[in-house]
This record gives sequence, structure tokens and C-alpha cells, in this order.
Amino acid sequence: MTGKIHSFQSLGTVDGPGVRAVVFMQGCPLRCACCHNPDTWDFSAGEEIGAQELFSKISRLRSYFGKSGGVTVSGGEPLMQSEFLTELFSLCASAGIGTALDTSGCIYNESVERLLDLTDIVLLDYKYTDTADYEKYVGMKRERVDLFLERLQLLQKRVWLRQVIIPTVNDGETSVRRLCEIAKKYSCVEKIELLPFRKLCLEKYDAAGIEFGFRNLPEASAELMARLERIKNDIME
Ligand code: SF4
Repeated sequence: MTGKIHSFQSLGTVDGPGVRAVVFMQGCPLRCACCHNPDTWDFSAGEEIGAQELFSKISRLRSYFGKSGGVTVSGGEPLMQSEFLTELFSLCASAGIGTALDTSGCIYNESVERLLDLTDIVLLDYKYTDTADYEKYVGMKRERVDLFLERLQLLQKRVWLRQVIIPTVNDGETSVRRLCEIAKKYSCVEKIELLPFRKLCLEKYDAAGIEFGFRNLPEASAELMARLERIKNDIME
């Protein structure tokens, strides 16, 4: 089976545990205001590749993965191509290569469940804890990501919750506290990652002629991230 990828990053250390190959999938049904990869949205773009060929690219790097690393599929929204990724992850599982799925949790069906069966760890982007913000800036109901998280709990998946901290939008102490409360409700959540909002994507938006909704917001400072990290650690300890 073939799938559509946007790009392949040989070795990364910020998308899941250990050293990882990262595959950015092409296509996303959402249009998040904070999106860093608008060039992954259009499913008709990207590069077509077979599951076996992609697996070969990943497996060539396996000596770097060690015990905790492996492959992470990101995007775009990987769940749009769950059948293709099930084939890929099945090859990875047979070869003992760890698998991670970086997702917004916006799709859940039987095909996704089959993919989750072969997924070692889910990096779930929990974008906002405020319900109105979720709808306003993601265009999806927050209940959908909650439902996805409940499924991950039932399946006993390892989960990391991730949230991009966007100044003036979700950078308040209350928001971080709410995220921690959500994490504490689910024993499958191993940790929370707070990620700083950056605007490196501006060039991509300009090149594509797409308006970037958060263009005028400041990037998240190191001080802000350190303060929120301290609050998070105090609650989660
Ligand atoms: S789900 Fe990810 S790729 Fe899709 S629009 Fe949102 S941030 Fe961008």
C-alpha cells in the first residue's frame, strides 16, 4: 500500500522518547490557528511512498534508536492515513522498532483502533483546556480529544500530552492547572510536555498566501516557559 508523506527527518530527539526517525505525513482535516505546518494540509500534495520503502528508510537508522527510540509519525494528521500506517507499524513491530504517533486525536474509527494496537506511545496534542478556545482556534469540539484520550486509557496506551503555549491565549496559570487536572484523571498519561509558541512558520504561510491567525502574537519566552514548567511540576509530583 502507498501513503503520502510531506517529509522525512532522519534523526530527531524532540518527538517522543530517545532518538527517532520522524515522518511527517501529508494531509490534515483541521486548520488550527497555531499550525506550524500549513504545507502539510493539502492531501493532494506531498510524496507518494510505499510502506515497505518507508520502512526500509526507517530501518536503515535503527542502530541509532537504542532501547527507547524508534519512529514517530507526525504531520499533518497521521490518522488520515491509518491503514497505510498500520502496514508500516506492523513492519516496525516485526523488526522490534518502537512506534510513536503524534496526533490531534481528531479521528477515531476501527482503522485507527487497529493502528493504535501497533502504536507504543501516543503524543496527543491537547491544544487548549478552554472549550471555547478549542472550537475557535481548532475548529473541533474539545470533547473529541477527550473521547480519544478515554479510548487511549481503555487501550492502556502510553500517552504524553502536549500543548503549545501561546502568549495571551493559553499561557495562564489556570490553563496549565486545568491541563494537569486532566492528565491526573488518566493513568495512561506519563507526562505533559509544554512547548513554546514560535513563529518560524511565517515564511511558509507567506509563500502559500495563507493568513497566519497568530502572526501578531509574541513568541513564548524562556521565562514564561520556566514559570509554567515549575507550576506543572509542582502539581504533577
Ligand atoms: S492538527 Fe496539526 S497539522 Fe493539522 S492544522 Fe492542527 S496543528 Fe496543523
